[in-house]
Amino acid sequence: MKRTQSESLFQTAQKYIPGGVNSPVRAFKAVGGNPLFIAKAKGPRITDVDGNEFIDYVASWGPMIFGHAHPKIVEAVSRQAQLGTSFGAPTELETRLAQKVVDAVPSVESVRLVSSGTEATLSALRLARGFTGRDKIVKFEGCYHGHGDSLLVKAGSGVLSLGLPDCPGIVADLAKNTLNVPYNDTQAVEELFSRMGKEIACLIVEPIGGNMGVVPPQPGFLELLRKVTKASGTLLIFDEVITGFRVSYGGAQKLYGVTPDLTCLGKIIGGGLPVGAYGGKKEIMDHIAPVGAVYQAGTLSGNPLAVTAGIEMLNLLSQPGVYEDLEKKSEKLCNGFKENVKKAGVTAAFTRVGSMFSMFFTGQEIVSFDSVKTSDTDLFRRYFNAMLEEGIYIAPSQFEAGFMSAVHTDDDIDKTIEAQFCALKKALG
Ligand SMILES: *Cc1c(COP(=O)(O)O)cnc(C)c1O
Repeated sequence: MKRTQSESLFQTAQKYIPGGVNSPVRAFKAVGGNPLFIAKAKGPRITDVDGNEFIDYVASWGPMIFGHAHPKIVEAVSRQAQLGTSFGAPTELETRLAQKVVDAVPSVESVRLVSSGTEATLSALRLARGFTGRDKIVKFEGCYHGHGDSLLVKAGSGVLSLGLPDCPGIVADLAKNTLNVPYNDTQAVEELFSRMGKEIACLIVEPIGGNMGVVPPQPGFLELLRKVTKASGTLLIFDEVITGFRVSYGGAQKLYGVTPDLTCLGKIIGGGLPVGAYGGKKEIMDHIAPVGAVYQAGTLSGNPLAVTAGIEMLNLLSQPGVYEDLEKKSEKLCNGFKENVKKAGVTAAFTRVGSMFSMFFTGQEIVSFDSVKTSDTDLFRRYFNAMLEEGIYIAPSQFEAGFMSAVHTDDDIDKTIEAQFCALKKALG
């Protein structure tokens, strides 16, 4: 595979941008080699600057659930661009997107639009602290909630892939208010809450772990979180930045029937443009300025281009049969992978909820950060590079989810399964 253009662009990028990338997960550090520079993408396919074409399962890390450059989204965004790209004043578009979110997501009665998932989670945290008058927060090891100071303690995603220890620059006095518990460990949660529940402002969780690879909640886990938080006056926050509009139109809370107090959204609701959101019960949300005293603002919040893309995306997703189709395709892909693994004689664990899935090179059952860390990352490195050679673009880390889109065809999936078998053989050497 020719990579000369990507290599050359990466050399220049490193001169002007730290590490040559604007988000560390894009670097190929965990898998060796340098990142591909992308020229364009259409539907389920992504093309690099050397003209190599790949079937894409990264989906821009989740948002592109209807594939790249969907004609409906492109058309709507182009139309809006002619009318102006930012006003710093309200538009009807924002209310339309907000209404769609409120209609879809069970816990959300009122929602504030921001520009990223990080902004959504750190604002929700501030709101929870302002609302309860408490400082402490609880999160789970291996969950990633963006790069806000309070949330970067024992985090997943790039922090995990790069094996970074605790992040310098985070004030120790702040970090000490972040309490970490192992994912799916109901006993640890109960013990923590019986000890200090009344001091805890909020518990934030990915209702399906998505940033240490996919780690589904065990039966009863989310229900227990709901129970203990309610009993101690702690707000339960579901970080649905990945799962929102991914695992069902109403997110993981709809799928599992557990309703949090606050919900964070991002990725899909921007239709590929920068949008985040946090919402919940009106009585809580009304503590945000200008109604309440908890301050949060944004020059480009509710940006008309981004919101237009989001509205079109939700229109596409609300068509009948979309999630059933995603389920069917994802199941087909993962079944193919499972057969390949068996044929190739590799030990691997599979996890999947709807159209988000992972394959870990481990024999352990996947329940937590500790179990995913038993994966053979050296084998993953060889597998990742072999997949690229075979024309399949997956996340450059063992600890990230794969994403199916609604525009992958059966033929794309068959090709992927075939390519994966070759990649596994190559990786085994
Ligand atoms: C991606 C992600 C974030 C951060 O969103 P950004 O838009 O990258 O700031 C937060 N929480 C979860 C669960 C995510 O997957």
